Amino acid sequence: MPYHILIIEDEPDINLLLAKILTAAGYTAVQAYSGTEARLLLEREAPDLILLDLMLPGLSGEDLLAEIRQTMHSDTPVLILSAKGSLQDKVALLTAGADDYITKPFEPEEVAARIQAALRRSRKSTPSSSLLSCKHLTLCPETRKVLVNGAELSLTAREFDLLQLFLETPEKVYSRERLYELVWKGGYYGENNTVNVHVSNLRKKLKAADPKEEYIQTVYGIGFKLCETL
Ligand code: CA
Repeated sequence: MPYHILIIEDEPDINLLLAKILTAAGYTAVQAYSGTEARLLLEREAPDLILLDLMLPGLSGEDLLAEIRQTMHSDTPVLILSAKGSLQDKVALLTAGADDYITKPFEPEEVAARIQAALRRSRKSTPSSSLLSCKHLTLCPETRKVLVNGAELSLTAREFDLLQLFLETPEKVYSRERLYELVWKGGYYGENNTVNVHVSNLRKKLKAADPKEEYIQTVYGIGFKLCETL
């Protein structure tokens, strides 16, 4: 089964170009030209990845991303395609749950490579099906579900991968660079802040689900590790 990718882009030429890039790379593509059209498609389709333009008529890409993160598609990788290329814009989008950011104008090869990397991360198979746990948290590598105090936590693909890594090696302290290598496999190191943003989002979600516990510890001058002590 080829991977199925949803393109959300209002400019017909760019939308068509993306569809061609995807088809050439062996994916199937479905094209939406507005946020509202995409919203309707997402009610009946479950794409493996979403390419999202920000400046769309009506419902903006930012608003649609926020919606996607609250639905059954919360784990679906979302790659932002935008002419807005400032660091501030990128950080805001990554904070809002985007998995990657491609600045327009883009090179077809880059789009294809980033899609491949994002799919590889999200479909990473885990050899062990045993549950991982810490304090009030349980993570199932096979279903990619996380429960905190019995309630399911909605994480992006990268937040999940980070958390799984910490749980698998509770003693280990990871530098930001190492986390980037391990979790953003094949991705490219565009920004030094990426790991911090994702760890910070993950922490916020954990804090909201379990306000009294710390799960990720900052090791000053080095990086992060699982916070084990009760
Ligand atoms: Ca646009």
